[in-house]
Amino acid sequence: MSPALTIRPYSEGALTQAAAKLRAGELVAFPTETVYGLGADATNDDAVAGIFSAKQRPSFNPLISHFPDRDAAAKHAVFDARADKLAAAFWPGALTLVLPKRDDSTVSQLTTAGLPSIAVRVPAHDMARALLRAVGRPIAAPSANRSGRISPTTAAHVAASLGNAIGMILDGGPCGVGLESTVIDLTTDQVVMLRPGGITGDQVAEILGTDVVMAETDDTAPKSPGMMTSHYAPGLPVRLNATAPDTEKYGHEILLAFGPDCVTKGFDKVLWLSKTGNDREAAANLFAKLHEADQPRFDGIAIAPIPDTGLGLAINDRMKRASAPRAPVQSNP
Ligand code: AMP
Ligand code: MG
Repeated sequence: MSPALTIRPYSEGALTQAAAKLRAGELVAFPTETVYGLGADATNDDAVAGIFSAKQRPSFNPLISHFPDRDAAAKHAVFDARADKLAAAFWPGALTLVLPKRDDSTVSQLTTAGLPSIAVRVPAHDMARALLRAVGRPIAAPSANRSGRISPTTAAHVAASLGNAIGMILDGGPCGVGLESTVIDLTTDQVVMLRPGGITGDQVAEILGTDVVMAETDDTAPKSPGMMTSHYAPGLPVRLNATAPDTEKYGHEILLAFGPDCVTKGFDKVLWLSKTGNDREAAANLFAKLHEADQPRFDGIAIAPIPDTGLGLAINDRMKRASAPRAPVQSNP
């Protein structure tokens, strides 16, 4: 069911069409100064699930939300003095800031992979910023290539990699930098570089007058007890492939249910990931339902079997991480 692909050179009309498609929940690839981004409305769960589906990503990494300027970003992220200094120095530009997500942010939990933080960036590309302004919503945009392939710096690269999975490419010619943005985490007192990129740690350190620490490359290393560097984990124990309740062994469980044949009887409460067994709908619901299920009045979260096909792969990857043994102390707010 791949939509026909439209590749339009940048123009007023192309911009209007791209903005309308994004507002309608469709995927649009667009140029930035780093690489072509695969854009989707970051506030629309289904649209964001579409990114993972098109890229065939085997896991749900948090995505960067893009804005036309700092004030638009500040509607979704909490800026402290350090963030304001870096934004003033490097935006628009190849710097992504990971900041606390505002309580009133409408950005999808799938965009932030269930985390209490949000990654924000203002790209230094006139067409990208004009598009972001025209859409008027945060745009989630990882690189516009299939998972594991090289990042695209021309519309032709995007078409070759994702042509049958997306509706439109806004063609702005080749990207200048070709390097991805530097990702700086400001959610703790330390300044941590999560990913090197176009702007160096020394440049960041000079503006802030403090050291910049490189993040552990091992993504599974806990940042603080119970919390992985970039993975949300619920406080309750999680059990996979649950086909029936067993109160004696597991206590009172809430079930995340999937598919028309799912056995729901006997569970304390049932939340549907997808009644029809639709992997994209389940992906869109995943983090919101995990958060909703994570209440101390239950003993655990049971997850119904989900087939390892399509987005089921990424869903099961995330559920496996959520069910992995970990320290009992939870630091997720
Ligand atoms: P990409 O989607 O390829 O541009 O990469 C996004 C980068 O930003 C990855 O390294 C993510 O792990 C990182 N990132 C995005 N959002 C967050 C977040 N909320 N917390 C920590 N890291 C993030
Ligand atoms: Mg990439």
